[in-house]
Amino acid sequence: MWPSLELHTSLMSSIPVITLDGPSGTGKGTLSQRLAQHLHWHFLDSGALYRVLALAATQHTIHLTDEPALAHLAQHLPVKFVVNQRGAHPLIFLDNQDVTHAIRTEKCGNDASTLSALPAVRQALIDRQRAFRQAPGLVTDGRDMGTVIFPDATLKLFLDASPEERARRRHKQLQDKGVLTDLTTIQTELQQRDDRDRQRAIAPLKPAADALIIDTTHLNIDEVFKQILQTLPKFLTQNR
Ligand code: C5P
Repeated sequence: MWPSLELHTSLMSSIPVITLDGPSGTGKGTLSQRLAQHLHWHFLDSGALYRVLALAATQHTIHLTDEPALAHLAQHLPVKFVVNQRGAHPLIFLDNQDVTHAIRTEKCGNDASTLSALPAVRQALIDRQRAFRQAPGLVTDGRDMGTVIFPDATLKLFLDASPEERARRRHKQLQDKGVLTDLTTIQTELQQRDDRDRQRAIAPLKPAADALIIDTTHLNIDEVFKQILQTLPKFLTQNR
């Protein structure tokens, strides 16, 4: 027999979730992944969903302002996250095509930011994101993880850094990948993306009221990770 909806909901909400929200260039992608691996928990990169949708929209020549068509595409998006080991970085497939790397371009990021401002698109992706909440726990990375998708999360972190430092990190990341860009362009695009994410009417980028804010401007990844690990025992034992 199927469990009742109430029982299912209460079982789901007993599974712990740690959310990492914040703008790009704060290291939250690397940190959330590292944390998932450390805890052997599941991992959701919610930005990847918006990026895959942006790529699919380009492939289907759907305009980034066509809300009904994008919402329909989001609802039926043939995306698969394949993980070999819990917490490991997933391979991402769109219609059985490996798009793990293709979605990491600046264009995909900017397109994702444009279409993610559309309420019907966000609505269409809610259940898909919540389905990642599986035992023994979930670490998730995004913009509205603590405010909208998992408001009852065990621990909510909000990572921030100065715009200059975030642009510098992004520029270095691209340089390391052999992508030629100049710092000023990166800074301008990052600023535009931030403004869109922070100012949109629905699920804007902002810390949840009960989030722990970490300013990473003067910290490296290892230092931030250490800080996160130090906060864990308090939250995880409280919720046991
Ligand atoms: O995190 P990432 O840079 O991959 O996200 C790409 C874009 O997707 C973000 O700039 C943001 O506009 C959107 N996004 C979102 N909500 C999330 C995750 C990402 O709106 N939870």
